[in-house]
Formats: sequence, structure tokens, C-alpha cells
Amino acid sequence: MAKFPEAEKELSEILVCLRCKTRNKKTATKCRKCGSKYLRRKNREVRAKK
Ligand SMILES: [Zn+2]
Repeated sequence: MAKFPEAEKELSEILVCLRCKTRNKKTATKCRKCGSKYLRRKNREVRAKK
């Protein structure tokens, strides 16, 4: 029944590096792998099916 709302919340709070696509934490100011500051919030359009 539960659809793991916490997990989805975590996903939405992940920053993805635009260069190497490494996932960083929301609090990261730059990529932990390549050091790029181009981080983008992972914003998946999840349309919940009821
Ligand atoms: Zn990177």
C-alpha cells in the first residue's frame, strides 16, 4: 500500500551534476566528483496514479 513517500522526497532533494551526472546531496554547493557548480535539482514529473 505505502508508496514510500519518504524515498520520493529524497529523490526530489537530490542535485544532479550537469557535467557528470553525479548525484549530490541537496546541501551540496558543487559536485563531489568533478567539482562543477552546475548542479540541477532532480525534478521528475511523477504523476501519481490513484
Ligand atoms: Zn560532476
